[in-house]
Amino acid sequence: MRKKVIAGNWKMYKTQAEAQEFLQGFLKHLTETPDDREVVLCVPYTDLWLLSKNLHGSRIRLGAQNIHWAAEGAYTGEISGPMLAEAGVRYVVVGHSERRQYFGETDDTVNLRLKAAQEFGITPILCVGETKQQRSTGQTEPFIFNQLENDLVDVDQSNLVIAYEPIWAIGTGDTCEPDEANRVIGLIREQIDNPDVPIQYGGSVKPDNIDVIMAQPEIDGVLVGGASLTPDSFGRIVNFGL
Ligand code: PEP
Repeated sequence: MRKKVIAGNWKMYKTQAEAQEFLQGFLKHLTETPDDREVVLCVPYTDLWLLSKNLHGSRIRLGAQNIHWAAEGAYTGEISGPMLAEAGVRYVVVGHSERRQYFGETDDTVNLRLKAAQEFGITPILCVGETKQQRSTGQTEPFIFNQLENDLVDVDQSNLVIAYEPIWAIGTGDTCEPDEANRVIGLIREQIDNPDVPIQYGGSVKPDNIDVIMAQPEIDGVLVGGASLTPDSFGRIVNFGL
């Protein structure tokens, strides 16, 4: 059975004081969360060690939002696998559309980052998804298949999560219809070698749409931006269906 992975992506939000406050409100929600759900928080670098120390004993898995392919070196502004692993990081978001759009991330660098994460025992969450224009011109499937083909060269599919994130649905409030997300995720699954890879949906997931999203048979979890920033909304999301 595929693992259900519910991940929050805090992006560039939350100082340490704010992260601490979030935890106080969020931990109580986890007492209800079924054991077969993996709960992940992908936080800014400056929050990693704080959470690492405070999550001890909790079921939350720590996640990061980037990883460089070298173990160390002259790469100003980057962070390495050993640095993340030392902080207890278990997951890392790779190839998020914001990194592809604003920071020059390409399929080649995404591929290098995926392999680096696996080398250091961290599970990468690979983000793929089309723009509004690609969708309206019938390019959704070929675009995503091309991303998968290039991003996954020599990547170990036994330690991988994929997130289908249509770019037009990220941070817009414009959620992809659940049955359409289910359809695309089913096609993604046909493209990869390992049928057990968990595939998430991401894009304006909220407390009021999580139940219908998670009721879709192909959707194994969600990657959540805005709604992961408040304890009660992310608490409701991790406790979908209850
Ligand atoms: C994301 O950051 O990956 C995301 C899906 O954001 P939001 O939930 O805010 O659309």
